[in-house]
Formats: sequence, structure tokens, C-alpha cells
Amino acid sequence: MKYQQLLLNFGRAVMRRVKSSPDDLHSPRRKSRLRSDPLLQDFANQLLVAAGCRGLSVAVFWNPALRTTAGMASWKERRIILNPKLVEVSAAEVQRTLRHELAHLLAQHRAGRRRVDAHGPEWKQACADLAIPNEARCHVLPFKRRKVQRKYFYACPECATVLARVLPLRRKVACVKCCRKFNGGVYQERFRFKPVEPPVEIAA
Ligand SMILES: [Zn+2]
Ligand SMILES: [Zn+2]
Repeated sequence: MKYQQLLLNFGRAVMRRVKSSPDDLHSPRRKSRLRSDPLLQDFANQLLVAAGCRGLSVAVFWNPALRTTAGMASWKERRIILNPKLVEVSAAEVQRTLRHELAHLLAQHRAGRRRVDAHGPEWKQACADLAIPNEARCHVLPFKRRKVQRKYFYACPECATVLARVLPLRRKVACVKCCRKFNGGVYQERFRFKPVEPPVEIAA
């Protein structure tokens, strides 16, 4: 019951922060500077206690310089670093990432001097103890990466390998795979890339 209240307060505090100071999280002045977060830090340490863990205390920071990495954990420094963009996704996403990273530290703490696999059984157990039993191992934010649009597509007439280009091909280019396989690695007109329509999944 007390635990549920803690979660609720946590969610409210994050959402309040979104409403009150969204710019603060992306201010250029603060770029690449870690900002500590006493609220999240306190929450993380309470989660550890709730998971029955004694003798480990962690620090929690935001780092606006992170791009698509949702969060990271450093065992050496006993700290978690989160991407402020998580706040724009949802309070739930902040929490999930916090627990994911905390599980790395908890797993290593329990293992003592033994090395543990990043997302191995010890980490999975720690996730279960931190109430995210089906956590996936992804550290990447659910954002689209900024991508250069590739508009020109070519295919190898032999093996159908597709070549995607930002600019059109200006010279003769053949499929390396097929030239190696059938022509000793030397250019062969037969394997020259031919223009094709964009594949559906890329064109979408
Ligand atoms: Zn991880
Ligand atoms: Zn080919």
C-alpha cells in the first residue's frame, strides 16, 4: 500500500516537472552536464530497500547530451544516467528505464566480485525483484533516429541485393558479392545494379 502510494507520487512528480520546466531539460547551456535528481535518486534507493537489498546506494542523473540511449548504469560510480527525452515519452517510461538500469547495479551488487552478464540471469532476477519481470534488454528510446532519406534504389539482377542511395549512381556499380562469387572479384556488367522501385517497407 505504501509502495503503491510511492509509485503514484513518483508519477505525479515527473508529470509536474514536464509541465513546469520542459525547456530546462533541453537548455543548450546545460548540454553534456549531468544534473542530479534527488527525487529519482530517493525513489531508486527506496526501490532497492523494497527489493530487500541492503548496503547499496545509487546516484541518479539526467544527461541532455544523450541521443537515443534511454539510460545507462555505471557500476564503478554506482550511478544511473537517464535521457531527459524520456520525460516526453511518459512517466512510466522514466520509471521503466530507471528500474532497468537499477537492475544492472543490483545484479552486480549481489554478485560481489564475480562478473555478471549485462542482461543475463542475475539481471533478469533483479528486474523481477524491481517489479519489471518481463523487461526487454533494449536501451534505445522509442524515437525515430534522424535519418537521411534514401530515394534511389538499385538491385543486383543476379542475387537481388538492394542498394539504397541518397544520390543517384553516377558510374557503373556492380554487386560485389556476385562479382566475387562468379568473376574473381572483377567488375562484370551482368551484375551491374539496375534501378528499381523503392521496396515497400523502406518507401513507407
Ligand atoms: Zn540494460
Ligand atoms: Zn549480386
